[in-house]
Amino acid sequence: MKVLDLLCAHRHRFEGWFASEDDFRGQLQRGLLQCPVCGDAAVVKCPSAPRLNFGSTREPDRAEQTPSEQPAGLALEQPQQAAWLTLARRLVAQADDVGTAFVEEARRMHYAETDRRAIRGQARLDEALELIEEGIDVLPLPDWVVREEPLH
Ligand SMILES: [Zn+2]
Repeated sequence: MKVLDLLCAHRHRFEGWFASEDDFRGQLQRGLLQCPVCGDAAVVKCPSAPRLNFGSTREPDRAEQTPSEQPAGLALEQPQQAAWLTLARRLVAQADDVGTAFVEEARRMHYAETDRRAIRGQARLDEALELIEEGIDVLPLPDWVVREEPLH
């Protein structure tokens, strides 16, 4: 997975997640990349974001300031969402579906009553929170991630 700093023609900076450098170029050529702020498709890759030339004065703490310059809500920018979805679906596909026995099964694994493995299933929010409080790692996923049909 490659995270690239991208810049549109209006100088909005945003991140894109790609499988590879080629994946980025492919999406760019097919016009799939758009600035999440203004929708501009004229997107270029920032060679090295923290060291962009902001004029003659060099600000060493630029890198720390950068995240706050980015508008919120970029997580749903399409290439990123697709990459995240691919990853989430891969996790789901590898996990053993234990359905409504999820909470019980997660506890049994945590307390070494059964072998550890990746499982998935249903849990109510309060049950999931209890697991987290007990130090059991759970990852809540929205329903549509688990459904098999492709997303349009
Ligand atoms: Zn823009």
